[in-house]
Amino acid sequence: MNFETIIGLEVHAQLLTKSKMFCRCSINYANALPNTHVCPVCLGMPGVLPTINQQAVEYTIMTALALHCTISEYTKFDRKNYPYPDLMKGYQISQYDAPFGQGGWLNIEVNGEKKRVDITRVHLEEDVAKLIHHAPPQGEPYSLVDVNRAGVPLMEIVGEPDLRSPEEARQYLIKLRSILQYLGVSTGNMEEGSFRCDANISIRPENSSESMAKVEVKNMNSFKAVYGALEYEAKRQRKAVAEGRRLTQETRGWVEGVGKTVSQRSKEYAHDYRYFPEPDLPPLVLNQEWVEEIRAKLPELPEARRDRFLAEYGLPLYDASLLTSSRAMADYFEAFHRAKADIPAKDISNWLLGPVSGIMNANNCDITKFSQRVSPEQFGRLLVLHSEAVVNTPTAKSMLEEMFNTGKDPDTILKEGERGQISDAKELEETINQVIEANAKAVADFKVGKEQALKFLVGQVMKATRGRANPKLVNELLKKKLKEE
Ligand code: ZN
Ligand code: MN
Repeated sequence: MNFETIIGLEVHAQLLTKSKMFCRCSINYANALPNTHVCPVCLGMPGVLPTINQQAVEYTIMTALALHCTISEYTKFDRKNYPYPDLMKGYQISQYDAPFGQGGWLNIEVNGEKKRVDITRVHLEEDVAKLIHHAPPQGEPYSLVDVNRAGVPLMEIVGEPDLRSPEEARQYLIKLRSILQYLGVSTGNMEEGSFRCDANISIRPENSSESMAKVEVKNMNSFKAVYGALEYEAKRQRKAVAEGRRLTQETRGWVEGVGKTVSQRSKEYAHDYRYFPEPDLPPLVLNQEWVEEIRAKLPELPEARRDRFLAEYGLPLYDASLLTSSRAMADYFEAFHRAKADIPAKDISNWLLGPVSGIMNANNCDITKFSQRVSPEQFGRLLVLHSEAVVNTPTAKSMLEEMFNTGKDPDTILKEGERGQISDAKELEETINQVIEANAKAVADFKVGKEQALKFLVGQVMKATRGRANPKLVNELLKKKLKEE
């Protein structure tokens, strides 16, 4: 029997407000000592009252609007009760039956085909504290609690189970993160935990509405992990059914190192949380004029920007899509274009998607960090030197790397480095002699007819001149020299 995979994603995104959701503590705790960003409210002391963070409400409405949701006029907060040591009050203030936004959608593209994925709801809640578990070699294991994260505004975006493959899930997350980054409401950083994803996955016989037990997968902190966990689950569930085993509704955790999901507990149902309206906060009636003001202020979003890049810069669809998938990258491109309007847009795109992506990958950094080292203006100057044939392409590429490593501008690097190719035999002679002296074995190998040894020696000369020597000339000079010996 053939089965299809049914996936629905729930995303939690921390909001980039100044203070926490219900108190005045700063959310900027990344480099702070544990339990220094705390107060009686986020510590969950009895007798204190929460206050709603207006900026967090505005960011949530912005997101809901960008995702084409209907904004509720009447909303409220609810208590979600569950006993867990990272939950300071024993309940989380969340939203149950009156979320800010409902019934939205976003578009994804998989293998060149567009697909609409529906969004169930967008609501606002608070983050929980962080538990740090220790298992010392001697003595009892113990856990520490850091309350800095407790109470940080957390937006939850629940998607409909419209996704049919791990790749669709990955594209959905990429698109959703890109929208949040364009709106400026979240960093969307998965590794740092400010953008987290839980996935519901089940299988069902093709052309059937009979659904099997739903499994919720947690603990995935990268796009790669989400993809891996979903692929693993899709296979595991099919195998279990093929072997006649019964699937159970449960929560499973992804174990990164092993590449497996493991059962954690049976899945909770809504009634387990005993939701009821938060008695310490009044219902929130949203002024529709304010909502319309927020709608009018929405920035240009990824799809609109991509279409503008196609029309305004005449870029191919591939380039326009990649450049606009990150707001920071699209901003860099446009700053570059403003600084050096003479350089064709396609050239800028080629450099950004080629050598710059290479440098970012090799150094594990993003375009924001890259731009702190190489400004669009400096990069533009390098491409002017390149277009005027002052430097050739390989030299320009190595200069770009040096600009990234040192933060120097291209003219300084040129002046300091004498970047031209060395085609003067005299200039190369000393280096060649040094290489011959230092590599007696390769020299001996060459003399008994091993051609490979010559290649190695040429390589050594190229290395010693940092790639500036003319390789053809080095080849000739080396051969001549080795015959003389
Ligand atoms: Zn606080
Ligand atoms: Mn939640």
